[in-house]
Parts: sequence; C-alpha cells; structure tokens
Amino acid sequence: MKILIANIGSTSFKYRLLDMTTEATLAKGGFERVTDYGDAIEKSLAEMKASGALPRLEELAAVGFKTVLAKNVLGCAELTEDVLKAMEEMNEVAPSHNPPYIAGIRKFREKLPRTPMVGLFETAWWMNAPEAAKRYAVPEQWAEWGVRRYGFHGASHRYIAERVAKLLGGSNLRVISCHLGGSNSIGATLGNRGMGNSLGMSPQSGLPHNNRVGELDSFAIPFLMKTHGLTIDQIVRSMNKEGGLLGISGVSNDVRDIVAAAQQGNERAKLAMEVFAHDIRHWIGAYLVQLNGADAIVFTAGIGENNAQLREMVCTNLDWFGIRLDVAKNEAYQRGQESVISADDSRTKIMVLPTNEEIVVAREVKKLLENRK
Ligand code: ADP
Repeated sequence: MKILIANIGSTSFKYRLLDMTTEATLAKGGFERVTDYGDAIEKSLAEMKASGALPRLEELAAVGFKTVLAKNVLGCAELTEDVLKAMEEMNEVAPSHNPPYIAGIRKFREKLPRTPMVGLFETAWWMNAPEAAKRYAVPEQWAEWGVRRYGFHGASHRYIAERVAKLLGGSNLRVISCHLGGSNSIGATLGNRGMGNSLGMSPQSGLPHNNRVGELDSFAIPFLMKTHGLTIDQIVRSMNKEGGLLGISGVSNDVRDIVAAAQQGNERAKLAMEVFAHDIRHWIGAYLVQLNGADAIVFTAGIGENNAQLREMVCTNLDWFGIRLDVAKNEAYQRGQESVISADDSRTKIMVLPTNEEIVVAREVKKLLENRK
C-alpha cells in the first residue's frame, strides 16, 4: 500500500511517498517559494514517476496530510468538502496553517479525483487529555463555541512517546517531549495518552515561536487597541509575523542567526534565547508535576536536535529532581542519531530523537482506509 504524505507550508511544499507494507520511504522531495500548489503537485508526481517510485497514479492508496485544526473534527478524517469547510471555520485561529492546507488539498482533489484525501489533525493526540487540561476559564458559551485548549504537534509528540517506549521498554512511561523547530511546543504523554501540550487554542500560543507570539495575557489586546490605537488587524499581524523570537531579538526568525548575533554581544538576541529557555523550563516544570515525574525528557526538531547550547540551558540546575545532563554527551550529539544525553545517575533520561511525523500520519491513514473496507 503506497501512501503519499504532503506537507504544505505557506510558501513550501514537501512530500514523502511511503510503502506502508514495510514503512519504507520510496521517494521524497519538495519545493520552496511555491506560488502555485498545482504546479508543485504535478512536478512531485512527475518526479515519483520518473524515479520508478510511483509508475501509475492508481497505485496511490491515499494522500495523507498533517492538517492542523477544524471545527468539531477530531482525530483522523477523510477530507470531504464538509471537513474542508470545518477547517475554513477555524482559519482565524490558524491563519498561517489552514489556508495553505485547504488550497493544497483542493488542488490535490482536482488532480487526483479518485484518490482518498485523509487528514490527521494535529490536535488528535490531545483529544483524550483530561478535561481540566483542555478547559480555559471562560464562560460556558465560549467553550461551546470552541474556545478551548486543543494542543497541536500531535503527530510529533506521539512519535516521540512511542519511540521512547520502544527504546527504554516498560509501560505507562511518563514522557515530556520538547518539539523545538519553526513552531515550538512541550508535550506530556503518559503511556498511550496525550496529557497536555503547551499549545492551546491556536498554534500561536504557549512557547515563543519563530515569529509568532506564544503566550500573552489576553488583556494586552484591549490595552493596545484602546490606549495605543492599534487596530485588531495590526495586532493580529504583529502577533503572527512580528512576535516570537524575531520580536524579542529584532534579528531573525531563525535561531542560527539569533545565536550568532548573541555571540557577538547583541543583548536582545541573548535575551531571546534566555526567554526561550525560561519558557521551555516553565512547561517542563508544569508537566513534571502533572505526570508526577518523568521517565524521559526528549528534544526534537530543527532546534531541539541542533542546538546543544539551548539543551544545556534548559537542563541545567535540575539536580533537586535528580535530572542531570551529561555535558560532553550533549555536545557530542550528531543529528540523526537516537541518543541519551543524561548522566548515568540521572533519574530521568534526557534524550535527543529525530521526529518522524510523516510515519504517524501514514499509519493513521492506513488504519482509516482499512476500517473503511
Ligand atoms: P519547521 O517547523 O519549519 O519544520 P525545523 O524543525 O526545520 O522547522 O526547525 C527550524 C529551526 O531549526 C530554525 O530556527 C533553525 O535555526 C533551526 N535549525 C535547523 N538546522 C539547524 C542547524 N544545523 N543548526 C542549528 N539550528 C538549526
């Protein structure tokens, strides 16, 4: 069974073709600065045909997507017109994510009208979290309208939790996973159950992101509007494009540039990394309490796997919990490996694991197709 996973960004398109009998990757590729998803899809299908990975389109069992958020759609779902409309209803909450996905999925449906399109929503892993972890202290009516903590990055946190269970053995493990990339979140998983995620109602919440705001007291918004005359559109734009690590550092939305500037003495860049580490520790602390400890704290994604200095800033001074980093192992870590970087006597294993969101999506898509039969 061949399943194509499409990863659609606002200006990028990446794909991976998987053989779900063996879970092997048959082909992968992608395009940056994409202006026309139809064109990117055509080119991708042509590449897969030319390489022999997908000689005939009929061989494709489904196209799977790591969709973000839809109104009242949880888990894994076939992307019918109704589901696309339910995604559209949440555009305001996921303005950088939902519109490109919807456009890309519509193009795929045009090109491959007989192939099922299936989405695994990023909220899925958290849908069974305790109600107390999902509820904001808002009026009941707001909660009914969907103002609640959904949590995102579900495919990545799930992959990490399952990988930890394989590598460490044992059941009902307590895993705190730190997905640090373009968007950032900390997740808590107990055994097979996602317990909580630092992302809340929108993918702009929780930790600071590359250029998106992260947590903010909601009363800042009327203050900016009424006292400083900003319009809601100006505020949303700033929260979405001029906030996060870019907003604090004033340098870049890429951590590599921020680290380089900090090394040259740029104080705002230094502060950006300090805020980032502080907030990651804040969430790790919250989940250490919620899970009554942790068997593993795991770093993953572009920053989590590449930035040893940040990992050290996060894992320092946790002796009281019995959590101790091995500084040399941390520095020696090479991307791509699955490694334990804690000291031998650390009560919690600190690990770096490459994530694999595509395989989680593909497995759920396969399950949905099999259940349909
Ligand atoms: P996305 O969420 O867009 O997939 P990634 O997981 O690729 O993002 O993470 C992007 C972030 O990872 C950027 O801030 C970048 O600085 C950081 N990053 C990527 N590669 C490296 C590297 N080799 N060294 C340090 N940081 C890196």
